[in-house]
Amino acid sequence: MSRQFRAAVVGGGPAGLVAALALGKARIEVFLAAPPHRTHAHAPDNRTAALFAGSIELLKNVNAWEAIAPSSAPIRAIRIIDDTGALLRAPEVVFTAAEVGLDVFGWNVPNSALVAGLLDAASRSDSGVSLRATRGIAQVAIAEDSATLSTQEGDTLVASLVVGADGRNSICRSAAGIATTTWQYEQAAIATTFSHSRPHRSISTEFHRPSGPFTTVPLPGLASSLVWVERPDEAQRLAALDEASFRAALEERLQGLLGTIGDISPRAVFPLSGLTAAVYGQNRTALVGESGHVIPPIGAQGLNLGFRDAAALADCVATALGQQRDPGEASTLAAYNAHRRPDVTSRITTIDVLNRSLISDLVPVHLARGLGLVALKTFPPLRRFAIREGLQPSREVSSLLLPDGAHRLTQRREAAMTRHSAA
Ligand SMILES: Cc1cc2nc3c(=O)[nH]c(=O)nc-3n(C[C@H](O)[C@H](O)[C@H](O)COP(=O)(O)OP(=O)(O)OC[C@H]3O[C@@H](n4cnc5c(N)ncnc54)[C@H](O)[C@@H]3O)c2cc1C
Repeated sequence: MSRQFRAAVVGGGPAGLVAALALGKARIEVFLAAPPHRTHAHAPDNRTAALFAGSIELLKNVNAWEAIAPSSAPIRAIRIIDDTGALLRAPEVVFTAAEVGLDVFGWNVPNSALVAGLLDAASRSDSGVSLRATRGIAQVAIAEDSATLSTQEGDTLVASLVVGADGRNSICRSAAGIATTTWQYEQAAIATTFSHSRPHRSISTEFHRPSGPFTTVPLPGLASSLVWVERPDEAQRLAALDEASFRAALEERLQGLLGTIGDISPRAVFPLSGLTAAVYGQNRTALVGESGHVIPPIGAQGLNLGFRDAAALADCVATALGQQRDPGEASTLAAYNAHRRPDVTSRITTIDVLNRSLISDLVPVHLARGLGLVALKTFPPLRRFAIREGLQPSREVSSLLLPDGAHRLTQRREAAMTRHSAA
C-alpha cells in the first residue's frame, strides 16, 4: 500500500534537508527520502560553506543552528588581493560587515556539521518531517494530480508536491521533463582545510589569480578552509602532492598571510561547471539546490541560493495552503519559479563574468576588472550596494530568511486565508 504525503523531498544533502524542515514549518506533512548517512561509509566531505545572514536565520528558524554553531566561524571581513600579475595591478579591497551595519557577513560552516545538525533537527518529532533512510528513490512517476515515488527498497508513496533536491543529476528533474543548460570551465577547485600559526582575524581572503580565485575562509581557532581554483591538470597535480610539498605550495601562495601552515586535511578536487534548469517548478516538481542550478565555488553563492530556494518554496506553499489550493498545482510552482528566477540568473551571470575576467588573456578585460575594484575601493555607496546585493538580493525576502520566520510564515498563510475568504 502507498503512503500519502502533501510533499516529498528527494535528497538528503544540505538543500534537501533544509527544504524539508522549511516545509515542516509551513505545516505541511513532508516525507524526506535521504541516504542513510549515519550507517553507510561515505567519503568525508571536507568542504565548508560560507553562509550569509539570511541562510543563518533559516537555520535558526528550523531549529538547527544551535547544534551547528560550535563548529562554525564568523566572517567579519572579505579581502580581495589582485594576484593576476596584470599590467595594472588593482588595489587591495577590504569589505567589512561593520560598514553595512552588520556584526558579521555570515558564518563558515563545515558541510559535515551542517548535514548532521539538519538531520538531527529533521529527526525531532515536532519537525513535521517523516525522515526515511533509503538507498534512494528509484523512480518518480508524475500524473495530473499527484506523483508516485518508488524507493530502491520497493516501497511507494504518493505526494502532491515533489521537491527535487537530488543534486545535479536529478531524477526528479528528468521525471518532470525539465530541460537544462550546462557549461564547463577549464578549471577545477581543490578543497581542503588547514591549521596555521597566525590568526585569520575573521577575515576571508580571496587572491585573484590568472587561473582563478584562491580563497581562504576562517574556521574556529587557528584554522581555515581553502578553495583553490586552478587549470584541471594543475589542480590534480597539486592535490596529489605529498603533505609537505602541498604545504610548501600553499605557503608560497599565501605569501605569509597566515604564518606557518600546520595540519592539512585530505584534499578533494571539484571540476568547475555550471547548470541551470529551464524552469524551477513544473509538473508537480519544485527544484531546490543543485538540481536547479550549479555555479562554480566562487563568491560563496551556491548553497546560499539553495537555502533561498527552500525558504521561497515554503512561502509559496504557505500561501497555497492559506488559499486552500493544492501545494503541487501549477500556480504554486509558477509562483515559485517567478520568485527564484531573477536571483539565480543574476548570481550565475555575476560569477561567470568575474571568473572569466580573471582567466581572460585580454588586456581590456583586466583593465575593466581593475577599474571595477578601484571604484569599489573609492566609492562607498557602490561598495555598500555591492556588499548588500552580494549577501542577499534586495527584492522580496522570504519569511524564513528573517528573524522569527516561523511566525511570519504563519502570518502569510493566515493573510492568504483572509484574502481567499473575502474573494
Ligand atoms: C569546493 C566547493 C566549495 C563551496 N563553497 C560554498 C560556499 O562557501 N558557500 C555556498 O553557499 N556554497 C558553496 N558551495 C556549493 C555547495 O557545496 C553546494 O551548493 C551544495 O553542496 C549543494 O547541496 P545540494 O543539497 O543541492 O546537493 P548535494 O549535496 O549534491 O545533495 C544531493 C543529495 O541527493 C541525494 N540523491 C541523489 N539522487 C537521489 C535519489 N535518486 N534518491 C534519493 N537521494 C538522492 C544524494 O545522495 C545527495 O545526498 C561549494 C561547492 C564546492 C564544490
